[in-house]
Amino acid sequence: MIIAVDGPSGSGKSSTARGVANRLGLRYLDTGATYRAVTWSAVERGLDLDDTAAVAQRARELVLEISTDPDDQFVIADGTDITAAIREPRISEVVSKIATNLDVRKELIRRQRAIIDKAQTDGGIVVEGRDIATVVATDAELKVLLTADQEARMARRGAELAAGSVTAAELRDQIVRRDADDSTVSEFQVASDGAVTIDSTDLTLEEVVDVISRLATE
Ligand code: C5P
Repeated sequence: MIIAVDGPSGSGKSSTARGVANRLGLRYLDTGATYRAVTWSAVERGLDLDDTAAVAQRARELVLEISTDPDDQFVIADGTDITAAIREPRISEVVSKIATNLDVRKELIRRQRAIIDKAQTDGGIVVEGRDIATVVATDAELKVLLTADQEARMARRGAELAAGSVTAAELRDQIVRRDADDSTVSEFQVASDGAVTIDSTDLTLEEVVDVISRLATE
């Protein structure tokens, strides 16, 4: 069983996908974390992010361990635990640039598919990202496109960043900018064949998890 959950930043897809994995006893893969890990490594090494060949080479060389336990998420890159570091604004601000590098995508999609294949022997997996239903796992049994209006997405990101130093205006800027950057990747957020669109704006996390879990077990 593969459940694909695609959606933009702040649509609630991470909490939702983890919640569904927990509810149904499935593994969980955050594909965004793989793009963030390559970004972290390229930034850490001081690579020119516009040097697509060098960044793609880094993606291929990176030793990446990513947890598929929904209750114990961690990312280890070349032996360093970068679970927290990949969420830092310095990474969020440039990750879209790395994600538009087609050779990076090719490498990460290959790795994501290997993780998904392995999880099939554990009963299945919930995979969250942007291009899961359209590219990574087109054979998913259930495909969900999660949306939410911009205010709701801001509110969710705002709660996440409450402890940080980001202002509301900066947050809105970030969301608008990342949407624009991500919109240059053609496979993103195109409703794929058979995908169910769920607008989470007026739903609680619990309600969205309920809907998806019910669809998956019908
Ligand atoms: O989901 P998250 O916001 O952590 O993803 C970070 C970035 O990784 C996205 O803004 C997007 O540029 C990229 N991404 C992607 N394909 C995916 C998941 C994420 O290109 N399947």
